[in-house]
Amino acid sequence: MNDALTIMDRPRTANSTGFDAIIIGAGISGIFMLYRLRELGMTARVFETGSDVGGTWYWNRYPGARFDSESWTYGYSFSKELMQEWDWKEHFSPQPDTLEYLNHVADKFDLRRDMQFHSTVTAAHWDDTANQWIVTLESGEQARSRFLCTAVGILSAHTMPAIPGAESFLGPAYHPARWPHTPVDFSGKRVGIIGTGATAIQAIPEIAKQAKQLTVFQRRPNWAAPLHNSKISKDEMLAIKARYDEIYAHCASTPMWFIHQADPRKTLDVPPDEREAFWERLYAEPGFGIWLGNFRDIGVNEAANAAISEFIARKIRQRVKNPQVAEKLIPKDHGFGSRRVPLESGYFEAFNRDNVLLVDTLHDEPIERITSRGILTSKQEHECDILIYATGFDGVTGAFDRIDIRGANGVRLKDAWAESPRTYLGMLAEGFPNMLMVLGPHTARGNIPQAIEHSVDFQAGILSFMQEHGYTCVETRSEHVSEWTETVIKAAEKLLSSKVDSWQTGVNRNVKGRSVRRVLGYNGHGVYFRQKTDEVAKGGYQEFAFR
Ligand code: NAP
Repeated sequence: MNDALTIMDRPRTANSTGFDAIIIGAGISGIFMLYRLRELGMTARVFETGSDVGGTWYWNRYPGARFDSESWTYGYSFSKELMQEWDWKEHFSPQPDTLEYLNHVADKFDLRRDMQFHSTVTAAHWDDTANQWIVTLESGEQARSRFLCTAVGILSAHTMPAIPGAESFLGPAYHPARWPHTPVDFSGKRVGIIGTGATAIQAIPEIAKQAKQLTVFQRRPNWAAPLHNSKISKDEMLAIKARYDEIYAHCASTPMWFIHQADPRKTLDVPPDEREAFWERLYAEPGFGIWLGNFRDIGVNEAANAAISEFIARKIRQRVKNPQVAEKLIPKDHGFGSRRVPLESGYFEAFNRDNVLLVDTLHDEPIERITSRGILTSKQEHECDILIYATGFDGVTGAFDRIDIRGANGVRLKDAWAESPRTYLGMLAEGFPNMLMVLGPHTARGNIPQAIEHSVDFQAGILSFMQEHGYTCVETRSEHVSEWTETVIKAAEKLLSSKVDSWQTGVNRNVKGRSVRRVLGYNGHGVYFRQKTDEVAKGGYQEFAFR
């Protein structure tokens, strides 16, 4: 450990050598990792591309951006004081409030003094002789550290559509993950949006309220269900605060660490009337209940999935006035819940507006190119003043691929993971010593902040163990990496979601080499994952190799 430096006199520039740890990213993961490293007495430096903290909630400022998970399960739980002093204003927090919360955390724990903004990490190379990582920034500056903590996020590598002509468009064009910091004025404007994923599903109803004309270019529709957001009153917040221990303990007992617990009954064992009443209730409730609190077999049994898909399709038909438009909005190529279900506020009703046009680019009007004036399809040129590319992300591994990360013997991470990531518990990658991954591939995810806290705490445990024993290097052991990789692949086998292209299965046709499905997360039960990591910790981390 870098014991020559105290917390107060640690060097502040990236030219310095010898941080104990370098953290890439100042989002939810990087913030908490820095907090834990400080507790361990380690010197750390966070490098962040943005101009401030927040990660996803710093970048994604598009209209309508908000949690679609309950705010009061989506904050940090490491500090009871923080939990008690912070009031969530809405059950599903809008992006500005969430960003304010993360700023509050950074201020409260005085974290910014170890963060360097406007600093994109372009390379990180392991130096076996020095037992250190050499980290290079876009500016050419370099810094060294014993540990590299990748807090890069699973949805941070945004992707532009692979459609010719984007550079020729004369008006402003935005990707929601690089949204301007000042509001975009849509009034009187003709707006074109490509994509109908969770991001577009939030943005479309908001933009439709302002724009003169909104043209939605949909390749494949997604299933979506109502969010039912509402304000949190003072009394309600007090009641939530009084129950925080119970709420977080409950989340820790569910498969995905949300408040929702699947119903143990099998869909087709339940009489149709009862089933229908149950679904009506879930559809009318806020949050992910309709997906995660549904009958337990909807994600694995084709017939059960067809039944819930038909129920949701009926809802779409009821909500969208034009039957032809409704049919276009109903997915036919995958069942409900087999891709991450976006929750919406007036998405389907937006298509009842006179100023919203749905263009089906898969069946009716394939996009040919982007022109100086808008989007040219096989049938016509749709003139637009503003274009929005809500075309998603190179999920999970994309942010790693964009950095030239080289481990032992100079092997590049991107090459090592070309076919499939190989990690132990998603915490460390095989062949990459001292690289701690927060939300690395093959880890358990679900409720992201809770998964982050779990990941960081497990890794802080490893670091503390190393301090105690005087170790300076931790690596995976091949046999355990193989065992975990098999566990992860087996856990995904029966899931209908494994048979569908999405960012979760690693498919993004805008990125070269990303058209083959991969298993990118641990999809088993969250409780099993906690037990497994607890056992590894209690057993003295024998599954890892130390020196
Ligand atoms: P996404 O779900 O991957 O959707 C991208 C959309 O762009 C899809 O409709 C896709 O069509 C379309 N697309 C991509 N490339 C295209 C091309 N070249 N031509 C035409 N269409 C193209 O991305 P996202 O909406 O940004 O959401 C990603 C994830 O972020 C979500 O699943 C969720 O986990 C997270 N998210 C969360 C929240 C929240 O918590 N509230 C909000 C937003 C996002 P195809 O389906 O045909 O590929």
